[in-house]
Amino acid sequence: MEYRLIGEIVLNKNIKQKEIEVKKYLKKSEEDILKTLKDLDEIKFESEYEIKDNNLILVRMDTYRQSAHSIFYRIRKTLAEYLGKNLHIGITTLEVKHLKIKFPLEKLPIENLQIPFVNKIEFNKQEKTCTIEFENIDKNFITKGNVERLIKRIKEKIDLTYYEGKAEYYKLLYESPKREIKVNSDPTIEMVNRNWIAPASTKGKWVYWAPATALFRTMEKIVVEELLNPLGFNEMINSNIVSGEDIWLRTGHLEGMPMEIYYVAEPVTRNVKAWEHFVDLLKITKEIPYDEFKKMIQFKPLKGLVYAQCPSIYWALKGKTIAVETFPILLFERATNSFRYESGGRHGIERVDEFHRIEVVFMGEPEELLKIREKIAEKYKHIFNEILEIEWRMASVTPFYMQQAGDLFEMGLEEGQLGTIDYEAWLPYRGTREDSEWLEFQNLSIVGEKYIKAFNIKHQKNQLIWSGCTGIGLERWVAVFLAQHGLNRKEWPQKFKEYIPDMPKPLKFY
Ligand code: ATP
Ligand code: ZN
Ligand code: MG
Repeated sequence: MEYRLIGEIVLNKNIKQKEIEVKKYLKKSEEDILKTLKDLDEIKFESEYEIKDNNLILVRMDTYRQSAHSIFYRIRKTLAEYLGKNLHIGITTLEVKHLKIKFPLEKLPIENLQIPFVNKIEFNKQEKTCTIEFENIDKNFITKGNVERLIKRIKEKIDLTYYEGKAEYYKLLYESPKREIKVNSDPTIEMVNRNWIAPASTKGKWVYWAPATALFRTMEKIVVEELLNPLGFNEMINSNIVSGEDIWLRTGHLEGMPMEIYYVAEPVTRNVKAWEHFVDLLKITKEIPYDEFKKMIQFKPLKGLVYAQCPSIYWALKGKTIAVETFPILLFERATNSFRYESGGRHGIERVDEFHRIEVVFMGEPEELLKIREKIAEKYKHIFNEILEIEWRMASVTPFYMQQAGDLFEMGLEEGQLGTIDYEAWLPYRGTREDSEWLEFQNLSIVGEKYIKAFNIKHQKNQLIWSGCTGIGLERWVAVFLAQHGLNRKEWPQKFKEYIPDMPKPLKFY
């Protein structure tokens, strides 16, 4: 990497008479900093100082490998000491006027790339390098490490252009026996026709009338009795609202899916008087006065509705040292709904903006966790084959961000120990089992230390803690079940019917 920096140091006194001494201290402070750096001969440091306008020093620095901007800011402290003690001169400001960085790339971008904060960005195809230029950079921008993160973001954006459209890593782990399919229709349409469900007041959400709710509760009962109780999971209840700063900034959700989050705003005040104008406008026009409304709600700090249930569970454990006897932690949560702005992807009850899910979370030492995952997978197999009697399959999938994360492999992990297993089922109304896209109706993941580290959760005996989760999407379970068995109870598998002795009567309208 090559750096070229042009900077300015403004002093609080005229130094016309002391030029030689000031330059000497500049060199001395520079040497002090360079001494602390490793591999000095590889840095190829070059600098030039020119005194202008009596109290202004123009600095030019060329460095290789070691960043010029960090050396420039580190010089300030030493220089201030020398000038203060020996010449009674102080530093008023020290600013980077221009910074140019050239760095090598593994891949060149395939399309035009935009990045904020830089004045210029250029790629050299022959050299496989990128050059960026900044003007007048703020000190905080440099000392907080933003320059380095900006370079990382450029490389990440280049990588992303290569992944687009590529399939995930996918390895089939299990295929259930083939089932004789009784129906071939979209269960959402059937449920609407029979008044089991109806559209809710906002997009992508449903009102589940008694028959649909009875099915959801049956699925929950099966999960609790067949899987969660036997394995010793305990139920907990979390909050529906999630903090952007405390939770999503740490889990990466705000970087990964800001476009899918449902944001929540609190009123600016509860003061009745302050809302009087809003109410006046509303009462007179019988319309919502949005311009006034915007003034009455808070955007900061950022909050939203649950996207996935587990981040809030980890947050509640942040900074805690967990007692040995508490392991493994086995919890599940089903009181909060999950919200995702699916927009054009919405379909039926299987891709909705508000869904009901039992989120099962487990934490413990790695070996124990792998055993827990085995046991969960066994129970699922039993439920799908013996109770729901559906045609399904299981595959190991690794999201690209995980395939990229070299640290997984540095940990000496075998393939498949970390990562996600997707459970998919055939929806006959979408087409043949061979050619149609199957529905992912749940997954089972071990995410290693990802969240444990993000929330600084510790083991009493300092052992390594891993965590994992499995989210049981009730809409998708019901969609799969009905797509394969239909809506007539008499067609349903015997063991399933034992869990739901009666279906509630649907409402009738004339
Ligand atoms: P997809 O690729 O289908 O969007 P995802 O990768 O976003 O799924 P996860 O974040 O892994 O899904 O969520 C886990 C489970 O939550 C899914 O297996 C599914 O059961 C459920 N789920 C996710 N999104 C929806 C949705 N929009 N509607 C209904 N259920 C959903
Ligand atoms: Zn989870
Ligand atoms: Mg999704």
